[in-house]
Formats: sequence, C-alpha cells, structure tokens
Amino acid sequence: MSPKIESHFVKVKCNDCGNEQITFYRVSTTVDCHVCGARLADPTGGFSSLKGEIVEEVE
Ligand SMILES: [Zn+2]
Repeated sequence: MSPKIESHFVKVKCNDCGNEQITFYRVSTTVDCHVCGARLADPTGGFSSLKGEIVEEVE
C-alpha cells in the first residue's frame, strides 16, 4: 500500500502585481511571488492557505 500523494499544482495569480506562478497545491514552506515578493501561500495543517487567486489547476 502506497500512500495517496496529491501532487498536483495550481497556478496562482499574485494580488499585488498580477504575476501568475505555478506552485504546489500543498506546500510545506511559505511561497513568495517571484516578481514582487508578496506572500502567495502559507502552509496550514498540510494544506496551502493561498493568498492569491487560483487561475487554474495544473495536472
Ligand atoms: Zn507579485
């Protein structure tokens, strides 16, 4: 039995600068915008607390 791994990605749009960035749906560390440095996601109990808008889910 292997554990179910949810490894899909989401594309998140930065609220501050509009940059679209692909990140894990679940993160273990904070994720910052590559362009302006704004916080895009915080790890919260194994799930991402996404600050930006999810543009699309990526397989
Ligand atoms: Zn940004």
